[in-house]
Amino acid sequence: LPITVRSLSEAIGMKTGELAKRLLKETNQLYGNNSPVDFDTAALIAVEKNIELVVKRQKTAEEILIEEFEQMATNVDPEKLRPRPPIVTIMGHVDHGKTTLLDRIRQSNVAAGEVGGITQVIRAWSVMHKVKDPETGEKVIESPITFLDTPGHEAFTKMRARGANVTDIAVIVVAATDGVMPQTEEAVAHARAADVRIVVAINKVDAPNANVDRTRRQLYNLSLLPDNMGGDVQFVETSALTGQGIDDLLDAIVIESEINLAGELLADPARPAFGTCLEGYMTADEGVMATVLVQQGTLKKGDILLCGANYGRVRSMQNDQGVNIEEAGPSTPVLVTGLGGVPNADDPFYVVEELTTAAKIAEARETKDREKTLNRFAPVNVENFAATKSKQKITELKIILKAEARGSVEAIRKELEKLTHEEVTTRILHAGIGAITESDVQLALTSPEDTLVIGFNVTADDAAMHLAEERDISLREYQIIYNLVDDVKAQLEGRLKPIE
Ligand code: GDP
Repeated sequence: LPITVRSLSEAIGMKTGELAKRLLKETNQLYGNNSPVDFDTAALIAVEKNIELVVKRQKTAEEILIEEFEQMATNVDPEKLRPRPPIVTIMGHVDHGKTTLLDRIRQSNVAAGEVGGITQVIRAWSVMHKVKDPETGEKVIESPITFLDTPGHEAFTKMRARGANVTDIAVIVVAATDGVMPQTEEAVAHARAADVRIVVAINKVDAPNANVDRTRRQLYNLSLLPDNMGGDVQFVETSALTGQGIDDLLDAIVIESEINLAGELLADPARPAFGTCLEGYMTADEGVMATVLVQQGTLKKGDILLCGANYGRVRSMQNDQGVNIEEAGPSTPVLVTGLGGVPNADDPFYVVEELTTAAKIAEARETKDREKTLNRFAPVNVENFAATKSKQKITELKIILKAEARGSVEAIRKELEKLTHEEVTTRILHAGIGAITESDVQLALTSPEDTLVIGFNVTADDAAMHLAEERDISLREYQIIYNLVDDVKAQLEGRLKPIE
């Protein structure tokens, strides 16, 4: 659809007569109401009225089909929602004990006798944690918790960048021997960006050089505050090595679910299942296998499963202990066979009634994926345009800052704090030392329109550069604080100069 004088006039709220005159001045041509206006000219005039023209690519038939299907397939009836177990991810700096902690949690909650005999088959599992009955004080109430066994925030963030948000609670592990480290800060930033609840585990408290107080203070500096300091973050001291505090950590997770996430952890177990694929692979014996996390409904053997661009009837289903099961309810991770092809991690899955529906949507997805690959570097095709009043108004400019030294970070932070512009403020989402990495850019993907990734005396690595380019993230490098601050100021005022 070309932009016409009429549609532009409506979009920017300028009378057609006035607009035609303005166009004549700009281009030395005469315009009628239905005359086409080229995009650049339209955008120029719109900007004068403080309106940004946005190029919107027309959706393809496949995209519309998939969208309509997904809307229908994920429709839940609020009346039928019941509590579901929380889904927990463990994040933190390398070597702070994430893996050991996960192992310890798994061991302490698998029925005695089974320990050791179990080969874990999937990278997600549930534990049944016994919590105290408030009346009797005895540990009787069983509360299930699902852990995603993908320690580290890379996995977490990759997943989110692809649209899958499966975590409810992030346990941030900090070794009391080291204290807060760069990846601890990153993990906190990622958890915050994803808007998940945080529980802090101060680990390695058994070690002779553990300094719990110092670690606590460093965490408070990241605005993680316990309730006696006006915050609502639970702190638990653990030793993954001795097992100390593990029970308290699980208690904290249950409390978090029941208090701070009350009313959010809900699912309808009666409906057809949908959820997210955690990983897919191929084996010689079983063919295609996929670990999926059921998020709503109940997945049953024999169901027709559509997962990304693949589908098939569920032939077999195993739980996290390798036991064959017939059905799996909300927050349950299961290993399924029966799909026709290997799905991607993070692909959404749906149970559908008819094989023909599954085939149709799978094909549409395949076409869409193929076109996306082909079009990645093609110029945008202006088929349609839309104008909104300055889009949604940006009220906060988010900044991800990487610098060569802590001193620089602090200096820049101070300068930026001074820059509060009428209705717009800056917020440093994450600041760290070292090169700009893929993880920094991924953090910006949460709201690409109003996030800047800035390097000061550091550069971006190739992966970061590539991702920023692909996803249109604003990535800039500076050597002079003044220039950095000036650009941020310009951005706040809505007129960032193009990169020289
Ligand atoms: P990850 O990289 O965060 O997954 O860390 P790991 O779980 O691999 O642990 C790193 C190292 O710290 C290993 O040598 C563990 O044995 C050790 N470790 C983990 N937890 C504790 C703990 O609570 N106390 C002590 N003293 N060492 C621990």
